[in-house]
Amino acid sequence: MTAIVEAQAVLTSAVLAQDDDLRAFALDLHAHPELAFDEHRSVAALTRALRAAGFAVETPVAGLDTAFVARHRFGPGGPRIALLAEYDALPGIGHACGHNLISAAALGAARALKSVLETDTGELLVIGTPAEEGGGGKIIMLEQGVFDDVDAALMFHPGARTMTVRGSLAATRITMRFHGKAAHAAAAPHLGINALDACIGTFNAINALRQHVRDETRIHGIISHGGDAANITPAYAEAKFSVRHRRFAYVQELKERVMTCARGAASAVGATVEFEEGLAYAERRVNHVLAERFGAHLEAQGERVLPPPEVGGVGSSDFGNLSQHLPALHPYVAMVPEGTSAHTPEFAAAAASESGMRAMRLAATALAQTVAELLTSPSLLEAVRDDFRSAHSSGGTA
Ligand SMILES: [Zn+2]
Ligand SMILES: [Zn+2]
Repeated sequence: MTAIVEAQAVLTSAVLAQDDDLRAFALDLHAHPELAFDEHRSVAALTRALRAAGFAVETPVAGLDTAFVARHRFGPGGPRIALLAEYDALPGIGHACGHNLISAAALGAARALKSVLETDTGELLVIGTPAEEGGGGKIIMLEQGVFDDVDAALMFHPGARTMTVRGSLAATRITMRFHGKAAHAAAAPHLGINALDACIGTFNAINALRQHVRDETRIHGIISHGGDAANITPAYAEAKFSVRHRRFAYVQELKERVMTCARGAASAVGATVEFEEGLAYAERRVNHVLAERFGAHLEAQGERVLPPPEVGGVGSSDFGNLSQHLPALHPYVAMVPEGTSAHTPEFAAAAASESGMRAMRLAATALAQTVAELLTSPSLLEAVRDDFRSAHSSGGTA
C-alpha cells in the first residue's frame, strides 16, 4: 500500500515538473487550430514530443495521415493501456472544444508514466485520434483494428462540470438530395418540379413526427442548398440532418422514419430524393471501475466530482463506438462555469486560460495515476473487464 501511495506521489511530481512545457504545448496547439483530418502541425508537435521522450511512434495508421500510435513497453506480457489524444478544432472558432488540452494531458501523463513508473511488464500507448468533430476518426481506426489488442483506453475532456460518469447520445447523420426540374419560375412554372418545396416539406413532416418520438430525441437539420436564383424553379435542393437518442437501436428506427418523411415530401411535389448516410456514432458506455479510480485521483487533488445533471447537456462522440468495443474512460474536468457550452468563443478562450491549464494538469495527473494502477494491478484490470462484460450482458449503458 505504501508503495502505491509513493508511486502516486511520484507521478504527481512528474506531471508538475512538466508544467511549463505542457502549458506551452497546449497554447501552441491553441494558437494554430486545425480542422478534422487536417491536423498535420498538431500531430507533428505531439509525435515530436513523444519521440523525444523515447516513445516509438507509428504514423500514419489506419490510412489516416493524422492518426498515430506511440508505444513504450515496460516489459514482456502484461496489459496494453492506451491514452487517447484528440487535437482537431472547429471552423471559425478554433479550439472551442478544448482538444488542445486533451492532447497536452495525454502527453503529460504518458511522459510521467514512462519516466517514473516502476514495472517490468505491460505496454503504454498514446493513440492519436483525428477528426472527433464529425469525421469519426476513432470509428475508422476501430474498424481498421487499431484498438484490437488494447485492454483499456483513457482520455479526458474539458467541460463545465467535473464528472466521471457521463453517457453520450448515439447519433447518425443523413444528407438528403432532392431532385426536381428547372423551369422559368414566372413564364413556365407549370413545367417545373420544385426540389426546394420537397425539402421544406421534409422539415414540416419531421416537425409533425417530433410529437410522436421518445423523450430526449434530437432531430436537427439545415438546408445546405436551396436553389440558385429566385426566378428559376429549383431543380436541386439539399438538406443535412442529425438524428440522436440515448439508444443506438432507436436512432436506427428514427432514421427510417425521417427518411420516410423525405420520401413522402418529395413524392408530394413529384420530386425524388436520395440519401447519403454518415458514420453512425454509438452511445457511450461508462466503465464504472475506471470512472471510480479516476474520480478518486481527482478528489485526492481536491477536485470535487459531481454526478451528471438530470437532463440535457449531452452530445455525441466517436468515443461512443470505442466504449462499446473495450473498457474506456471519458470523464470531464471543469474549466468553465456551469452552463457554459462547448463550441462557443467563451469555451475557446478558456482552453487557453489558467482554468484550462488547471483542468489539464488535474486530468494529466489522474490519468497517469489510473494508468499506473491498471498496469500494475491485475485484479483492478479484471474488475474493469468485469464491469465492461456486465454492461454488455445487461445491454445497459449509463
Ligand atoms: Zn466538440
Ligand atoms: Zn470535444
